[in-house]
Amino acid sequence: MKGRVIKSTGSWYVVQTEKGTKNARLRGKFKQEDLKLSNPIAVGDWVLLENEEDLESTVIKDILPRENYIIRKSTRKAHHSHIIASNIDQAFLIVTLKNPRTSLGFIDRFLVSTESFRIPASILVNKMDLDFKDKELDHLQDIREIYEPLGYPVYEISALNDDALLNQFSHLLKGKTTLLSGHSGVGKSTLLNKMVPEAKQTTKEISKFSAKGVHTTTFAEMFEVEEGSYLIDTPGIKEFGILDIDDFELSHYFVEMRQYLGQCRYNNCQHVNEPGCVVLEKLEEGYIHPYRYDSYINILTEEDSHR
Ligand code: GDP
Ligand code: ZN
Repeated sequence: MKGRVIKSTGSWYVVQTEKGTKNARLRGKFKQEDLKLSNPIAVGDWVLLENEEDLESTVIKDILPRENYIIRKSTRKAHHSHIIASNIDQAFLIVTLKNPRTSLGFIDRFLVSTESFRIPASILVNKMDLDFKDKELDHLQDIREIYEPLGYPVYEISALNDDALLNQFSHLLKGKTTLLSGHSGVGKSTLLNKMVPEAKQTTKEISKFSAKGVHTTTFAEMFEVEEGSYLIDTPGIKEFGILDIDDFELSHYFVEMRQYLGQCRYNNCQHVNEPGCVVLEKLEEGYIHPYRYDSYINILTEEDSHR
């Protein structure tokens, strides 16, 4: 029987099947040391189930190939790398213009991650019911002007006060597995609870099993919004580590730079100050947004300081 993992506790899994949800365990052979993972199965995985002889318990027999997955890589201990979730159709980053203000640099780091995981991303600007000063509205305009031309849709929503906007939002989720992310305070829990009223309850149930409490678990959770539509709640934005992206690889994850790669004079060009750099030329000509280039340089230098 085929099913989809919707919850993981690390030792057992909740799997959704045609015949309802099952609690399942792994059978021994899933030692994925080869894959350098601390967890062999994650939320979003499609798996094959089998009933044990006594028919009391269900086991996960096999895992179907993943279309994509997000992983928190550990640079120190490779086998501590941890799959957060898999088979994701789209990722939504929730941002806010104030209370708190989400920086462009933060958005860019997120987009580097989703590009590297090959997941289409959109930006949800939440709390649009608030009153804004000019500089906050300028920030919104920057977000629209920078990301929409790059192919990242920008949507304005209000998780708290606007059901019409929320209805629109639920259309974006239809038939898809959507990852929700955002730094603390942007309204991710509010939005999730609006879309999936039982989400709160489920979180509490899980906490009964983990002595440490609700938010200590590092496992992502998946909620069914309606049939075939799922929301994945990531435990924290830190899960989107981009620590181990190679300096030479970084520009591949900036979509506007990617198109010029291979055209610079030096094929190991990092687009910082090298002669004959086409990226710098395009920046000069206005084809690359200076804020995006700043983010590129910031990530590049930050990565170096970690080594
Ligand atoms: P999380 O940390 O991202 O999960 O954020 P929460 O969902 O806990 O929300 C943080 C605060 O922002 C709470 O006080 C919410 O009531 C508030 N909030 C969330 N969404 C909205 C919104 O759309 N408009 C306004 N004005 N406040 C919101
Ligand atoms: Zn270059």
